[in-house]
Amino acid sequence: MEYRTLGKTGLTVSVLSYGASSLGGVFREIDEAEGIRTVHVALDLGINYIDVAPYYGITRAETVLGKALKGIPRDRYYLATKVGRYGDDEFDFSAKRVIASVDESLKRLGVDYVDIIQCHDIEFGSLDQIVNETIPALCRVQEQGKARFIGITGYPLKIFRYVLDRTEVDTILSYCHYTLNDTSLEGLISYLEEKGVGIINASPLGMGLLTNRGTPGWHPASDEIKKTCAQAAAYCRSKGVDIAKLALQFSLSNPRIHTTLVGTANPENIRKNVRWIEEPIDEELLAEVREILKPIANRTWPVGRPENN
Ligand code: NAD
Repeated sequence: MEYRTLGKTGLTVSVLSYGASSLGGVFREIDEAEGIRTVHVALDLGINYIDVAPYYGITRAETVLGKALKGIPRDRYYLATKVGRYGDDEFDFSAKRVIASVDESLKRLGVDYVDIIQCHDIEFGSLDQIVNETIPALCRVQEQGKARFIGITGYPLKIFRYVLDRTEVDTILSYCHYTLNDTSLEGLISYLEEKGVGIINASPLGMGLLTNRGTPGWHPASDEIKKTCAQAAAYCRSKGVDIAKLALQFSLSNPRIHTTLVGTANPENIRKNVRWIEEPIDEELLAEVREILKPIANRTWPVGRPENN
């Protein structure tokens, strides 16, 4: 496993990291023991960064992750969770709620502190509230020693500039924007580097778009995006390759991205993922697949408030 420094946090994070949303059963009903084993396998393979949120499975992912982390020395992993999102349509970025939320998460996770506390999917809220109320509240949480660093997460890329032009945060988490079908995160990297912000890239498999299983019912991409990605997956199958392999290798090929979060509740998948990133990418297949995906390249979907898209 390769490691990179996460911006000015100084944390040395594995280039492939573990996203625990799957532990909340957001993609399929999961077997809890298998989910716990997945976390242990991830740590054994050198993954040292884990991302979760109260929203995933409505607290279930944090609870299952807490069980998985029980008894594991706290210095073996970095842990990030989030505040502000509590349901599909439930958001509360007020100081009072986010301060209480951190304590609830620490309890579920069974830890005294998290390494990063992130404002979750800020495009659903008022970005001015994030700047003027939520982040200052998280600075108090930080002063109390309950979190070491502060980050923001979301989908539309313009939210990151809006917040970072007005205040300081340590990390951003962007998802579905550095994949085979969408590399628009690239346009933001120089700006983030100038500010020393840690860059966390999530959903290299496009939340299922770039897998043989395909997308869950809630997936927000248009039918055209889903159809074109399914065509690309079928093309890879015809060549005897799992598109997930190509997708993962591609997302991890940019050295300016500090870490990439992949999610699964299946130990075999995490083993495959770690093995795949150590193999060379098939450049010919990559070029062919990127050609298939060209009609939908960098095509996005609206998320959150219209003014944040
Ligand atoms: P992903 O792109 O990692 O895809 C996950 C899906 O791919 C799951 O269905 C999983 O079973 C499947 N998968 C994983 N490995 C596979 C393999 N080897 N073969 C076939 N299928 C495989 O999407 P994700 O889980 O949404 O993203 C990763 C993590 O990033 C999340 O768990 C979460 O922690 C984080 N994330 C955060 C935000 C946010 O903060 N707003 C948004 C998206 C993701």
